[in-house]
Amino acid sequence: MKYISKKVFDFCKNNKIICSSDTAEKFDILYDMLIEFNEHTNITSLKSEDEICTKHFIDSLYPLSYSLIGNKADVIDIGCGGGFPGLPLKIVRNDINMTFVDSTEKKLNFAKSVCEKFGFECNFYPERAEELIKDGHREKYDVVVSRAVASLPILSELCIPYIKEGGIFIAYKSLKECDKTNPASEISISEKAVTALGAKIEKVLPAYLNLQDKSVFEHALVVIRKIKPTNQIFPRRYSAMLKKPL
Ligand code: SAH
Repeated sequence: MKYISKKVFDFCKNNKIICSSDTAEKFDILYDMLIEFNEHTNITSLKSEDEICTKHFIDSLYPLSYSLIGNKADVIDIGCGGGFPGLPLKIVRNDINMTFVDSTEKKLNFAKSVCEKFGFECNFYPERAEELIKDGHREKYDVVVSRAVASLPILSELCIPYIKEGGIFIAYKSLKECDKTNPASEISISEKAVTALGAKIEKVLPAYLNLQDKSVFEHALVVIRKIKPTNQIFPRRYSAMLKKPL
């Protein structure tokens, strides 16, 4: 096995995620495709094999280590860029029905070409999330995932309307932003917004990313559960969200 497939394989094994060596080897192909695509369209600023494997691939897979995604779930990745976290999740969990959304079509094209390569049937929407929702996507998904798109109050307004009652929104954040004792952390300032959108912050799960040079990145998954339908006035226009966050 090559470096990347081995690291993904070991991560899965250590975290009780089912991943065959054939599946792990798809990450070697994903890496090669990413490096090639990145020459003309900026998907990542990371350069080393280890960093890309750890901070993009393994980071994306973390929800599986906590069994957050049910069998055949309808999952939507909002602001997926080139397809993170959605692509790694789909590679390891081919049973899920994956939808990719990003306002930048040329980035989304990377996710599309990887899915074509692997024969995955996924849905792709080159649109803004606050517009797309109007086309029959409200309260249609079991799981919403989103990484590095906006601060949690704004992200919640973009993402929570998409979740079915009882479903979850998994926000990928740094552990530092999940400090409830700090009134200025993202988690503290988003409490009000999450409640107004019909959901609650259920838990924060740590996601430690171990690099080859022994440094550790402390990420976290914020799990937000939808408890009642979101008022139809949300999401507002993006400018209104920015001007007056909930
Ligand atoms: N999730 C990816 C990309 C993060 S960059 C990753 O972690 O690698 C943020 C992305 O969010 C950009 O590609 C941008 O086009 C997209 N984005 C920002 N606001 C958006 C919105 N309102 N609707 C859809 N996409 C949005």
